[in-house]
Amino acid sequence: MDNLSQIKSNLRNIPNFPKPGINFKDITTILNQTSIFKFVIDGLAQKLTTIDFDTIVAIESRGFIFASPLAYILNKNLVLVRKKGKLPHKTFDIDYSLEYGINSLSIHQDSLSDQNKTVIIDDLIATGGTAKATYDLIQQSGASVGCVLFFIELVALKGRHLFPDHLVQSLIQE
Ligand code: AMP
Repeated sequence: MDNLSQIKSNLRNIPNFPKPGINFKDITTILNQTSIFKFVIDGLAQKLTTIDFDTIVAIESRGFIFASPLAYILNKNLVLVRKKGKLPHKTFDIDYSLEYGINSLSIHQDSLSDQNKTVIIDDLIATGGTAKATYDLIQQSGASVGCVLFFIELVALKGRHLFPDHLVQSLIQE
């Protein structure tokens, strides 16, 4: 079995979590297997080889899991986008709707400048609202976005359509 097939076969689906109608993609069954998690990080790193960027912007919380090793192995800055109220310094904030609820995200006002070229990373894109809100926060800082990268893309929800002018990539399409 090739690497992508092994990753796919180890992803766990949890129907009707956290509410009816949501088919939750459980990544914990990837994380607790050394070789499979390594395939994921290597596969994501491969997607960034042609992108000119200096900073990874990671989305709380599962985005952090993938962004941190990528920042380390690719030698990039790591900037955190967190749920509102978690970052201790001055923030830009945004409210947006999620596939299952409403959320608010924040970024430190001084974590990026108009000199930074970023890549956004999260575990999964569903409707795209979370990534788009993150993009809007980055815009406030003046930095550019060279790519939006996900471990998993729920293709039917068409989240990538929120980024008509950007490169959107995913390792696994479900
Ligand atoms: P969205 O804003 O609709 O693209 O939702 C993406 C965010 O919600 C990501 O941070 C995911 O971690 C989480 N998420 C949404 N839908 C799912 C799902 N079906 N399984 C796992 N995580 C999900």
